[in-house]
Amino acid sequence: MNVLVINCGSSSLKYQFINSNTEEVLAKGLCERIGIEGSQITYQPADGDKEVTVAPMPDHTKAVSLVIEKLTNPVTGVVKSLDDIDAVGHRIVHGGEKFATSVIIDDEVMKAIEECNDLAPLHNPANLIGINSCKALMPKVPMVAVFDTAFHQTMPPKAYLYGIPYSYYEDFKVRRYGFHGTSHDFVSAEAARVLGKDRKDLKIIVCHLGNGASISAVKNGKSVDTSMGLTPLEGLIMGTRSGDLDPAIVTFLANKLEVSAEEVLTILNKKSGVYGLSRVSSDFRDLEKAYREGNELAKITLETFSYHVAKYIGSYVAAMNGVDVIAYTAGVGENTSIVRAMVGEYLGYLGTNVDPERNKMRGETVILSDEGSKVVTMIVPTNEELAICRETVRLVK
Ligand code: AMP
Repeated sequence: MNVLVINCGSSSLKYQFINSNTEEVLAKGLCERIGIEGSQITYQPADGDKEVTVAPMPDHTKAVSLVIEKLTNPVTGVVKSLDDIDAVGHRIVHGGEKFATSVIIDDEVMKAIEECNDLAPLHNPANLIGINSCKALMPKVPMVAVFDTAFHQTMPPKAYLYGIPYSYYEDFKVRRYGFHGTSHDFVSAEAARVLGKDRKDLKIIVCHLGNGASISAVKNGKSVDTSMGLTPLEGLIMGTRSGDLDPAIVTFLANKLEVSAEEVLTILNKKSGVYGLSRVSSDFRDLEKAYREGNELAKITLETFSYHVAKYIGSYVAAMNGVDVIAYTAGVGENTSIVRAMVGEYLGYLGTNVDPERNKMRGETVILSDEGSKVVTMIVPTNEELAICRETVRLVK
């Protein structure tokens, strides 16, 4: 089966075209600046050169039609015609409490996704536009929605409720939802597979450290807690997001800066995190370089980031009454050994001895802790697109 995996943002559309039998990525790419002057499509076939084409894309339907054109191009395409696209898997950011699993998209599902729009006003409407565009061009092709929040729907109320009046949960569904669920699910399953164990017998902490960062406690195969909340702003310090802070800071800063609470939230989402703290960059490669050059703020930033990760790990050990596996994933988790080393310095009490030589590994599945460790620490590269492809096949077959 050939599955087109779509991750649609408000002005962008990422895609991967995957042969589900071999799990080979036949082609992938990105449409940028949709609806804005200067839009372009990047197309990278598995066996060919990367192409960047400047092309007007007034809307997402045009973007999807260009993706199809690229995939079916007689010279550089990877399939003959539209008929060779067997299914489409859509990444949907927020499924609220309505979706605890992936689903085949029909009118009812579209309506239910739309009802979650107020929980993710930037993302869900864009995801819906992506679905509508694909439906317009491929009306007969089955489509599946895979939700970022679904895996965390197994959290118990004690993990998802905030200490605010209960009526806000009842009336407005204010609660922790968690995100990156597809990744936490994929990585915890993969960690168990690599260790030759059943995930149902393990307590796993997944540290998804990328530009967005979240951490989860996966007990017996189910998410029992995670660090992101109602929105992806809560939890760890991220590339540009603040993560946890005293909620009173919002009005305090609004008064000091003479801006609205909404504008403070923009600062907390876009100008904070390691970017705001370090004054260097949101990119950990730049941070690491600055740290090695003796930049004091870069050092403090890496230490603060790692300290927060270590504190969350500790709290999830408490939540699960133990831990068997700590799995690092995503851009920073897979690549930035200095962060793993800094976090590891707090974890001696767990009996996980990360071998400094192995800790230099990056970007591949590898066990970092030495043989005698009570807790296995490992890198497990995430692959959300493959996870979406697998979910799509599972439902469509
Ligand atoms: P993601 O959101 O998972 O794509 O991760 C993005 C983050 O991962 C950025 O902060 C990058 O600096 C970091 N990252 C990606 N690749 C590397 C690498 N090879 N070495 C260090 N950090 C990396």
